[in-house]
Formats: sequence, structure tokens, C-alpha cells
Amino acid sequence: MSEDCIFCAIVDGEIPGRIVYEDDGVLAFLDANPLAEGHTLVIPKEHYERLDDVPSDVASDLYAAIHEIVPAAEDAVGAPASTVAFNNGEAAGQEVPHVHCHIVPRTEGDGGGP
Ligand code: 5GP
Ligand code: ZN
Repeated sequence: MSEDCIFCAIVDGEIPGRIVYEDDGVLAFLDANPLAEGHTLVIPKEHYERLDDVPSDVASDLYAAIHEIVPAAEDAVGAPASTVAFNNGEAAGQEVPHVHCHIVPRTEGDGGGP
């Protein structure tokens, strides 16, 4: 838990999140400002700022969850594909300093994505 971290506050239930997946170490919820319907964020419950701060066992759990959530997010909105991305560091557009994976369902020619 990091003070003043909005995603830690969602993990702790202090602010609401539209949760779509949860296991012991990972939480996924819908993005508040979606780039497309079904835009989902997947986070480790523990606070790490950058992808390269995440220990390999946590990274492995995170990837296992992503592996399940990607097809579920696509199916939920009838999308045939998705963009799956991390903004790693402020200069790359990371606004929330709690590592998170974006899953953005995509359709042909939608012009979207992170
Ligand atoms: P970043 O730019 O850090 O890669 O992405 C942060 C994402 O978090 C953005 O897509 C933004 O819409 C989303 N976001 C920011 N604050 C909240 C929040 O309080 N709740 C949820 N569900 N998403 C948020
Ligand atoms: Zn946090």
C-alpha cells in the first residue's frame, strides 16, 4: 500500500472500481476513461511503480492473469483483437505510478489504442 496511490485505494476498497477479475495477487478493473468499450487495467495488488520493479514471481502471476483476461475482455464486447500495453515511466505516458497493464479491445480500422 502506498499513500496517495489511487490504484492502492481501489485494491483496499477505499474508492470504487468496476472489478472484473481478482485473485490473491492481482486485480483487474475497468478504466475510468476508456479508450474503447471494455478497456481494462490489470495491476499487482502490491504497489510497484514500474514494470522493472516487479519481482519475477509477481510478474508471473500478473502475466497469468493477463492471459485469462485478454480473451474475456475481447469476448465481453465482441472484439476480435486487443492492444495490450504498459506505459512504463512518466516520459512514456504513465500517469498513475502503480504498474498497470492496459487491455484495450480493438476492431479493424477503429484507429484507437494507447
Ligand atoms: P497511464 O497513463 O498511467 O498508463 O494510465 C492510467 C489509466 O488509469 C488511464 O487510462 C486512466 O483513465 C485510468 N485511471 C486514472 N484514475 C482512475 C481511477 O480512479 N479509476 C479507474 N478505474 N481508472 C483510472
Ligand atoms: Zn499503488
